[in-house]
Amino acid sequence: MKRHAKMIIIGSGPAGYTAGIYAARAMMKPLLIEGIQPGGQMTTTTDVENYPGFADVIQGPWLMDQMRAQAMHVGTEIIADHIDAVDLTHEPFWMKGDSGTEYTADSVVIATGAQARWLGLPSESRFKGFGVSACATCDGFFFRNKSVLVVGGGNTAVEESIYLANIASQVILVHRRGVLRAEKILQERLFANPKIDVMWHTELDEVLGTDDPLGVNGARLKSTLTGETFAIPVDGIFIAIGHVPQTELFKDQIEMKPNGYIKTAPFSTATNIPGVYAAGDAADDVYRQAVTAAGLGCMAALEAEKYLAGIKPMHQAAE
Ligand code: FAD
Ligand code: NAP
Repeated sequence: MKRHAKMIIIGSGPAGYTAGIYAARAMMKPLLIEGIQPGGQMTTTTDVENYPGFADVIQGPWLMDQMRAQAMHVGTEIIADHIDAVDLTHEPFWMKGDSGTEYTADSVVIATGAQARWLGLPSESRFKGFGVSACATCDGFFFRNKSVLVVGGGNTAVEESIYLANIASQVILVHRRGVLRAEKILQERLFANPKIDVMWHTELDEVLGTDDPLGVNGARLKSTLTGETFAIPVDGIFIAIGHVPQTELFKDQIEMKPNGYIKTAPFSTATNIPGVYAAGDAADDVYRQAVTAAGLGCMAALEAEKYLAGIKPMHQAAE
């Protein structure tokens, strides 16, 4: 099957849905390809307290359902497919989905977001899905009244520790430095929680477990100050050490920063290819919030609309 659209949006996180809302309201009939994680990263969390417009705590998956419904309501066509090949070297831009469908578009918004980063230990991959996870809201349930270890020092690690403390009997947060990167309000909640212990200047050296049945029963930890290693018993290990942009697909076609984030012009979502825009965590290595992703999605749709109308952009292409 072949589909053509004025605008194709790749990704269904806050950036993609917001681009859809703005493009649809500009009568551009956008197609939004949602990928294998409909709703994006926010579907992997629970309480959201910092998305404006809600005095009460809301749930991440609920928020994304609302964005999706709004995007569809104003006319965005949402397609269940995952783009596995692109050619952005000439117009119309070409994309191919897992489904076999070929898409062409006059403009493209890349909103492919980011995914959890892993430590890269062989024992981590061996026990992935068998006691090692990068998503507490997805897998926390399996550790009811058990002990778990969380690795990391950012907002994700702290939020996941607090979440897991509601389920597990004990949570140990292991951080490689002596100070957390997470917001102060989250740190206060973490330190006040009697079920959570923080181990400073410590890193995960090895996941320990059994082969039959395959499962985790401990962690070998290492002091980042002395290099000393020691083992502790735990039932599960959650890795929360940040995220990497999902931009591999565009490698060698679009200009990227050395860290893999797509390069955009200042105060713009324009990439180095006219007609191709990048919004959200795929391009933002600084803020990486739902609200900034949504804002960038809005900008991308507005910029693409002006591009298609032949209106000179107010910015320069990414250098
Ligand atoms: P993402 O949400 O990452 O979505 C990317 C989308 O792209 C997905 O739908 C995926 O399916 C799709 N995709 C990827 N590759 C392809 C492809 N090849 N083809 C088609 N589709 C593709 N932010 C806050 O503001 N408040 C919070 O409370 C908060 N809590 C968080 C909790 C956790 C556990 C995590 C991990 C993040 C949290 N964040 C929070 C950050 C926030 O989730 C992200 O900043 C935001 O989701 C980024 O949105 P995005 O649209 O750029 O991409
Ligand atoms: P992050 O802010 O990049 O933090 C990653 C943490 O992991 C850091 O503490 C880092 O240590 C540690 N780390 C990185 N590599 C490591 C390694 N190899 N070994 C051990 N530790 C390692 O990532 P994040 O917490 O996933 O957050 C990502 C973005 O999403 C942020 O912008 C965050 O604000 C946002 N987010 C927001 C919320 C919210 O608003 N409530 C919730 C979750 C996420 P160092 O500190 O030593 O570098």
